[in-house]
Amino acid sequence: MSGRRTKALFTRGAANAKTRKGLKVADVDTLILHLSPADQAGVGNVCTSSTAGCRATCLTFAGRGGIFKAGETTNAIQERRKERTREYFADRARFVGRLWDEIHAAKRRRTRPRPTRARWRP
Ligand code: SF4
Repeated sequence: MSGRRTKALFTRGAANAKTRKGLKVADVDTLILHLSPADQAGVGNVCTSSTAGCRATCLTFAGRGGIFKAGETTNAIQERRKERTREYFADRARFVGRLWDEIHAAKRRRTRPRPTRARWRP
């Protein structure tokens, strides 16, 4: 055993301002899977129906994901999204298994039954 912790694939809803509202208002916990859109991860295309227009204005660059230090074209958020996307293309079955495990772990964290949803976004 290496002792290294595996980084979670999902971002917890409580860590995101919009999904935190869902938790508070509707008691729905949301898990967000942030991937790199289209072919930005350099290993395949997760947006096979994307257009030049949507790629140019993609939400992947909204919010903190679009904040870069002067002279840089990427940041830690974009790089983590690329890592996840590469992990998906490297072994899809293992990736889906990890998602499944994280969804069940989220359900176990509930002190009382409430809906949990998972969604994908760039
Ligand atoms: S996530 Fe949506 S907007 Fe962004 S490139 Fe993919 S299809 Fe286009």
